[in-house]
Amino acid sequence: MRFDIMTLFPDLVQTVLSESIIGRAQKSGVIEVHTHNIRDYAENKHNRVDDTPYGGGMGMLMAAPPIYRCHKAITEALPAGQRVHTVYLSPRGRVFDHKIAKELAAYDDLILLCGHYEGVDARVMQTVVDEEISIGDFVLTGGELPACLVVDAVARLCDGVLSDAECYEKESVASGLLEYPQYTRPYDFMGLTVPEVLISGHHENIEKWRLEQSVALTKERRPDLYEIYEKERK
Ligand code: SAM
Repeated sequence: MRFDIMTLFPDLVQTVLSESIIGRAQKSGVIEVHTHNIRDYAENKHNRVDDTPYGGGMGMLMAAPPIYRCHKAITEALPAGQRVHTVYLSPRGRVFDHKIAKELAAYDDLILLCGHYEGVDARVMQTVVDEEISIGDFVLTGGELPACLVVDAVARLCDGVLSDAECYEKESVASGLLEYPQYTRPYDFMGLTVPEVLISGHHENIEKWRLEQSVALTKERRPDLYEIYEKERK
């Protein structure tokens, strides 16, 4: 899968995505991440990409033309027949979750637009953006961290990024439940010992214990997820 990120701060995005599992997935060619500096598509003397909003108000807005040209350059360079989806990271969008990550992982190319200042000219939504996605009910200074978050969550669903599909299918939320508590050596840490069932070697009992823990934790912390889990079990 390929990710194209339109941003005013490509170094910030590259720094975050060049490390660890996502960095390795890029090196091995399982995913591609390309950053595009929107400023390169400004056609004025000082490479300005922002302007004051019509009607007045606080702050500056990112203008539509450089974003449009940047998007055009990305899509024109893609091979024909690609399933492409363009997302503007925005607090006004639908709130990102595992289900949306799965939807986005079905595309060949995900183009992510990072806003800054007061956001982008509304006509960008009419000309290049397929949908707006928010990463939660709070406001950040820019769309770069949200874009990295979306790339990380989507990329780990792509074949070959994680070593074993089970890694994500059994994890919190993806499985429909929050994950059970996990332990590693030492057996005794400051008087806190590992639950006996986990060292019993009895696989069936271990699975039963883990499920019970997951259900109890989900019921306590995420009644919304628990309700869905209960409904689907019936
Ligand atoms: N004026 C905008 C509003 O009220 O909706 C907020 C602009 S915000 C200061 C600047 C940029 O940060 C946005 O254009 C967006 O790309 C990004 N951003 C901020 N909060 C976000 C969130 N919760 N989810 C996704 N992107 C966000």
